[in-house]
Amino acid sequence: MSEKRDFKEKIEAFIYDFPVCEFFYLTPEDLVFSDKVRFICETECTRYGKCWACPPAAPPIDKCIERCRNYQHVFLFSTVGEVSDSLNMSACLAAKRNHEEVTLQLRERFREEFGEDVLALSTGCTLCDTCAYPAEPCRHPDKRLSTIESHGILLLGTVEKVGACYECTSETVVFFSLLFFND
Ligand code: SF4
Repeated sequence: MSEKRDFKEKIEAFIYDFPVCEFFYLTPEDLVFSDKVRFICETECTRYGKCWACPPAAPPIDKCIERCRNYQHVFLFSTVGEVSDSLNMSACLAAKRNHEEVTLQLRERFREEFGEDVLALSTGCTLCDTCAYPAEPCRHPDKRLSTIESHGILLLGTVEKVGACYECTSETVVFFSLLFFND
């Protein structure tokens, strides 16, 4: 009789097929939450008020934090994009889209393994060239990815706490995503 594989064994059976740089097994307690993150969204982010996946269209901050805290496991991973110049915005956007695609693929793979209730947070929705917000409904509500920050998580504080590498060079950019799941 075969032994039941634990969640790490299940993930490690497929994760190396994806272009993931680093990954970490976390729980919600490892994440740095702050309900002040929305203030940063509002005052510093160009996407605030321009996307269905971002505040203020996102659910209230306390609901987002509560949802994250109710999962058993958090899988943090990074991808590294190679760009001709990390100050070149269009090159960085292409690398970001690639990271979002990897995140969507991994969300599907986690759902196959752990059930439909998998929450993915990433760098923000890039599915449409121009978001339909606010005039029209979201074109892909089941597919869109919200940002890590929209759910009250301080990304830099979290990656520093867990020891993830976030150093960029003139020719590389690093992106992070979180997958929340139960086993
Ligand atoms: S899928 Fe399109 S309409 Fe929906 S949030 Fe993303 S960019 Fe906006």
